[in-house]
Amino acid sequence: MSSNMMIPKTCSYCGKAFVAKTTLTRYCCHKCNSRHYKQKIKDEKIQKSLIEQQSLQTLQTLQKNNPNSLISKSYLCVKEAAELIGVSRWTINRMIKRGDLQIHKFGRKKIIQRSQIDNLFN
Ligand SMILES: [Zn+2]
Repeated sequence: MSSNMMIPKTCSYCGKAFVAKTTLTRYCCHKCNSRHYKQKIKDEKIQKSLIEQQSLQTLQTLQKNNPNSLISKSYLCVKEAAELIGVSRWTINRMIKRGDLQIHKFGRKKIIQRSQIDNLFN
């Protein structure tokens, strides 16, 4: 294969036409390459924080619209915790026995702090 290939291209960053030596080249110069790369990282970061913001807003809206729903409760009994994550009460009880979930006992009732459930997903 010839190393003197001449491939007319358009820079992905500045849009300038240039001649590339390989089909993989996407930028007219190293500067454009690193600038576009940095911009991409920045865009991805913005995108990510937007998504996080949106899901937080969705959660807040859910909490506002359903003040009595499980999602807005800070303390749950075993049954509610099971409902919240969609598993059986036995699964929750097993997790308590294994020590994956910390509980507080109020008489015969086991109460799980909501943050314990959230931590499982972090
Ligand atoms: Zn360029």
